[in-house]
Amino acid sequence: MKLVLLGPPGAGKGTQAISIVQKYDIPHISTGDIFRKNIKEGTDLGKKAKDYMDKGLLVPDELVVDLVKSRLVEDDCKQGFLLDGFPRTVNQADELDKVLGEMDMNLDKVVNIDVDKEILVKRAIGRRICRNCGAAYHIEFNPPKEEGVCSLCGGELYQRDDDTQETVSKRIAVYLDQTKPLAEYYSKKGILVDIDGQQSIEKVFEDIVNALGSES
Ligand SMILES: [Zn+2]
Repeated sequence: MKLVLLGPPGAGKGTQAISIVQKYDIPHISTGDIFRKNIKEGTDLGKKAKDYMDKGLLVPDELVVDLVKSRLVEDDCKQGFLLDGFPRTVNQADELDKVLGEMDMNLDKVVNIDVDKEILVKRAIGRRICRNCGAAYHIEFNPPKEEGVCSLCGGELYQRDDDTQETVSKRIAVYLDQTKPLAEYYSKKGILVDIDGQQSIEKVFEDIVNALGSES
């Protein structure tokens, strides 16, 4: 099962990714992990990526694609994989198709977790994090026993600077602008699966499995 997982920040993508890779026994490939590994090991690609990041520049598509390719050629990806956080643009999707074509592979499905913008904003601005142990809460969906206090360690809860209404709205708008053409791209190829992300975690996963089929 060769998959791409799409979904805006706050759609519960991380939780679903864990369930998907367990169910289908495939590696979870996130660009963040690949970047960190290559930079840590000081590979040529890692050094190039670090140069851009140190200068505060975006890592160019060609380099991102090369980094993803370096992971896809590893043995554990032969039976399948779940790509998370890549591709982000139509250009990257085109490049990914080329890379997979060279390896005699193609994507089976692209899972798109869909959540209304207003709900995403609500989810993000209600987030609170413990200053002491890092535990995460939500004032509405997962409140601590006592307001402002971590139920685990008694630490103080705070709101991340980038979780304010304004920055969250902007972050989500940027994501939606970028990925709408991407969803259309995969829809035209007939491999896009839209999943309603406004249900319980269990129901979202059930819908994903129903769409993908239960065989690994
Ligand atoms: Zn705590």
